[in-house]
Amino acid sequence: MITYFRDGFMDDKDASVSVRSRALNYGLGCFGGIRGYASDDGSDLFIFRLSKHAERLAISAKTLCLPMRVSSARLEDIVCELLRKNDVHADCYVRPMVISDSDELSPVLREEDATLVVYTLPLARYIDKEALDVCVSSWRRTSDNAIPSRLKPTGGYINSALARREASDNGYDEAILLTERGQVSEGSAEHLFMVQGGELFSPPSTEDNLDGITRRSLIELATEDLGLKFRERPIGRTELYTADELFFCGTGAEIMPIASVDRRTIGDGKPGPISSQIKSHFADVVRGRVASRRSWLTPVWA
Ligand code: PMP
Repeated sequence: MITYFRDGFMDDKDASVSVRSRALNYGLGCFGGIRGYASDDGSDLFIFRLSKHAERLAISAKTLCLPMRVSSARLEDIVCELLRKNDVHADCYVRPMVISDSDELSPVLREEDATLVVYTLPLARYIDKEALDVCVSSWRRTSDNAIPSRLKPTGGYINSALARREASDNGYDEAILLTERGQVSEGSAEHLFMVQGGELFSPPSTEDNLDGITRRSLIELATEDLGLKFRERPIGRTELYTADELFFCGTGAEIMPIASVDRRTIGDGKPGPISSQIKSHFADVVRGRVASRRSWLTPVWA
């Protein structure tokens, strides 16, 4: 595979950092996660909300004092070029990263060490299940004031990994993390939506969750295209147990209905009608079947 590293494209095996790198030793860096979807006739590949992902990476990078080095527009071109150089025509994932590539000892953030990396890999479904059995994690979501959870800082994913590990050790598919104050934050790498009384709810980013691109997109799709009611508000743990429907969303997870939380069945344990409606509309949008949402897609091969 071809990867973008520092300031050019190269073979994967030449894109490497030292074992002494601060990026490796302290997790100093930030990243993004982008999906490409093959069009129905296979003639094109659509990148979902590329400009939003480029903007979010720039915000993460600025917050960490590790500038992206290229404009957001140039990053968008690099992503398209990367997919063309790798001859990608099937569903895929793209990971852009800005890392602190310095071999010095202390965990110091310095602008001059910022290094851009962009790689790609094939990715079809992330979790192969119709609906997930999830738990509320004993690990609290990292506060935005400790390690910025509104962004995607590399080292911060220890929090996600611990929650995910605990969930799988206890026989669950995924975890929901609460904030330090005990409100619902998000999944280990997904946002949460709740359906109650025909209305959609989701906690705001101030509940220590990522400023999510799929979440924001779904709010627009649900309210503008499907005429659903949505309200952003904090959600308490016990509301989860009696919700009519719950689902996760994210770039990797896409739309993933939840069957149970802490062994309490949600609805009848199957994807509910509103989750299913949103899931199916989202699938149409990302494959370019919805003309009014084509501006959210960047064609790679057209
Ligand atoms: N929360 C976390 C912690 C994540 O890592 C992700 C994946 N990027 C999400 C939520 C979903 O966000 P997005 O829709 O922007 O991919």
